[in-house]
Amino acid sequence: MSAHESPRPTTSCFLRTIALVAATLGAAACGFGATPTPVSLIPANSGPARSNVHLADGSEITQLEVAKSRIIDFHESGEWEEQVTQITTEARERLAAELPSATRPAIVLDIDDTALSSFAIQRRLGFGWVPSAWDEWVRSSGAPAHAGVLALYRYALEQGVAVFFVTGRREHLREPTERQLRAAGYGRWVGLYLKPDDYSEKSVVPYKTAQRQAIADLGFEILLNVGDQWSDLDGGNARVTYKLPNPMYYRP
Ligand SMILES: [Mg+2]
Repeated sequence: MSAHESPRPTTSCFLRTIALVAATLGAAACGFGATPTPVSLIPANSGPARSNVHLADGSEITQLEVAKSRIIDFHESGEWEEQVTQITTEARERLAAELPSATRPAIVLDIDDTALSSFAIQRRLGFGWVPSAWDEWVRSSGAPAHAGVLALYRYALEQGVAVFFVTGRREHLREPTERQLRAAGYGRWVGLYLKPDDYSEKSVVPYKTAQRQAIADLGFEILLNVGDQWSDLDGGNARVTYKLPNPMYYRP
């Protein structure tokens, strides 16, 4: 057996297990015999820490439940917030260094899992995507700020930097989005760009790139662009970009 193979039950072992389960259930159904002993069809040595799928190229597929519980640990241990704070502290220092050479400085922030955390609703939905539940959450709930991003935002305002939000949320969520931003501490901005309701491209890059171009066309220079997806950052029109961690989902 190679190092990548996990032990598997043999056919005879499997048949013996089935026979034992059938005998146990049969005895219970007939109302006689000793109390049935629970029988597991899962081999005792197949705990979640052991990998179980190997691909031909040598890589592994992580079990979904294991990935979900690592995401929860990443959040609950505080490591996620710590990483965001490290990155945004660096971003703030860089903004300070870039400011003297800009005449109309601006920064662009993404909203979900950049300015605001959506961890609570993602967890409630089992880290799946349910558009109606998402809209309902935006309309009816608050969302906490990522503290490091809020600190960067406040520093930008103190320095007279124009703040723009460019989000993949759709236009029909504008009013509750403004409410969520204000409740989390983001009280002022120069522009809030939401994706048109009829936007049909698979990637948000064309939309987000166009919004940054529109900001530049207004005469601003975007010094920082901060997002949790590479698609927030690709497409140019920012002196420096910062990518925040987000293990929950991928948006092209
Ligand atoms: Mg985002």
